Amino acid sequence: VAFAELPLSPKVIKAVEDAGYTEPTPIQEQAIPHVVAGKDVLGIAQTGTGKTASFVLPMITRLERGRARARMPRTLILEPTRELAAQVDENFQKYGIHHKLSVALLIGGVSFDDQNRKLERGVDVLIATPGRLLDHTERGKLLLNGVEILVIDEADRMLDMGFIPDIERIAGLIPFTRQTLFFSATMPPEIASLADKFLSAPVRIEV
Ligand code: AMP
Repeated sequence: VAFAELPLSPKVIKAVEDAGYTEPTPIQEQAIPHVVAGKDVLGIAQTGTGKTASFVLPMITRLERGRARARMPRTLILEPTRELAAQVDENFQKYGIHHKLSVALLIGGVSFDDQNRKLERGVDVLIATPGRLLDHTERGKLLLNGVEILVIDEADRMLDMGFIPDIERIAGLIPFTRQTLFFSATMPPEIASLADKFLSAPVRIEV
């Protein structure tokens, strides 16, 4: 298949072509139609498989309709580390080049005031590490009840780093009507039961 055969917005396809990619990777080919259709996805994939674009491209496509409201991000991506969060941000810059999306990064080491100003203007995509995100929700600066798509990335690393209780608290602040995308490189029993808890009738994709 070619990217143009996937149900992606023309502007997203143009950005992918600008980036020099000709064909989707297996995870992209399999996940993108389901993400665009609004389904929950359980993706078992390592870094290096093109997993990031498998959620970034359809999310940009979905975000073309509607707009952000103050302090209520439309989508939320949770990452275990600042570095991974920054990489996802770069992917949104690259693939969202033909869009006017507001993307905010909530990670440690960045000033609270700058982050707050951005949240107040409204963000389409919030990319966060769990601890920093909870700092903001606890200060009342951030509302998660407008989140339409939640991405839990690198779930097995989240488990290793002790972030599962934080993830459960965060997920508890988001309505059940959301779409959830859950990615992990491995699927030990603890991760499988978490996936069960967070996902509703997911499409399972293993690459
Ligand atoms: P990821 O698995 O998301 O960390 O992506 C691994 C690398 O593959 C990144 O450097 C991407 O830029 C690259 N990549 C993503 N999608 C494609 C594609 N369809 N064709 C070629 N390279 C890609």
